[in-house]
Amino acid sequence: MAGIVVKPRARIYHGHDWVYGTDVRKIFGEPKPGDVVSLKDYKDRPLGSAIYNPNSQIVARRFSRRKQDLDLDFFKRRIERADEVRQRLGFDSVYRVVWSESDGLPGVVVDRYEDQFAFQTQTMAMDQRKDLLVDAIRERFSPSCIIERNESPIRAAEGLEPQQSIAIGEPSPKRLKIGNVSFLADLWEGQKTGLYLDQLDNYQSVAKQAKGQRVLDCFSNQGGFALECAKADAAEVTAIDSSEPALKTAKENAEAENLEIRFESRNVFDFLKEQESAGTKYDLIILDPPSFTRNRKSLKDALRGYKEIHLRALKMLEPGGKLATFCCSHHVSAGDFMDVIRDASVDAKRTLRHVDSYGQRRDHPIIATIPESEYLRGYCFEVVPAW
Ligand code: SAH
Repeated sequence: MAGIVVKPRARIYHGHDWVYGTDVRKIFGEPKPGDVVSLKDYKDRPLGSAIYNPNSQIVARRFSRRKQDLDLDFFKRRIERADEVRQRLGFDSVYRVVWSESDGLPGVVVDRYEDQFAFQTQTMAMDQRKDLLVDAIRERFSPSCIIERNESPIRAAEGLEPQQSIAIGEPSPKRLKIGNVSFLADLWEGQKTGLYLDQLDNYQSVAKQAKGQRVLDCFSNQGGFALECAKADAAEVTAIDSSEPALKTAKENAEAENLEIRFESRNVFDFLKEQESAGTKYDLIILDPPSFTRNRKSLKDALRGYKEIHLRALKMLEPGGKLATFCCSHHVSAGDFMDVIRDASVDAKRTLRHVDSYGQRRDHPIIATIPESEYLRGYCFEVVPAW
């Protein structure tokens, strides 16, 4: 079997599963992109089985500490195990069934919306074996449809083209009750695989602060935060997103729940700038931007973007007002994110008190030795009246 000898001091000796190109001492047996390779340490001791892609910065991703093939039986066992974890956590209808390295399936995402399923294969090896993945999903869940949602630009890092297809069945948009409100899940047209599953618990958590407040939900997408805040008796709710289709669905969600929300299809940067100069005030502002960076190179620009929206938002909050802010990029560390908030508060001349913390829903498990698996962080801060 082909394989890789890994240099001393590489991440893999510290419990990570990735081997970067710079960690490679030697490649033997001429593996092809997408092949399974065996990993060895510098003393020729086995480290496990990995998928190989020389065209990616991460040339190998370990998926087992043993010798293991990627056959149907493997996919069935991994999916069964991942799903059992979710069941123990109490998920049974709308949840992420498989999340990549956190479930021993590097690059594979499987999302369940009751009887409809969507998957992504973001590594070469898994992309080559998506038929096995589909068979394994079908065997466990007997779904009405399975959709491939492989349009993410991060596939380019593995040399993969964007793809969207129907593997089995026929998708149809479905209204799903989640928390106190309902959402139209459209696995074929919606952003990501339909909903931002990682945020689903946070809508209600943030809405605890909303009663009687003037709420602004920035980067609202389907309106998750806005809907729960309106349901929690906010005085008024405004929701902003630049995507027309997302706002159209958000409006339908509000109508279905009989909730009054003002929706605006705008660039949040422009909107905040304009509102700030107009002297508009809010009591609770939610910032849930997309990841402004997909790599470490553009981190600085991304942080500037984060700082700008925080600064403008803070200026529109009066004493007692609250900011609920999220960052969904693993390239932005907890420290970076907190620095942005701190810097913005200094410039806005606001003292902030930490009120609450949020994270990704538990169907996106965090592996202690894989820091990238913890990517969604959120905080709620209250503006302290001047002493
Ligand atoms: N809060 C949402 C998820 C937000 S994802 C939820 O929980 O469902 C980021 C959203 O920001 C996307 O809906 C995208 O359409 C929108 N977006 C991206 N850049 C934007 C910009 N500059 N101005 C307004 N919206 C933007």
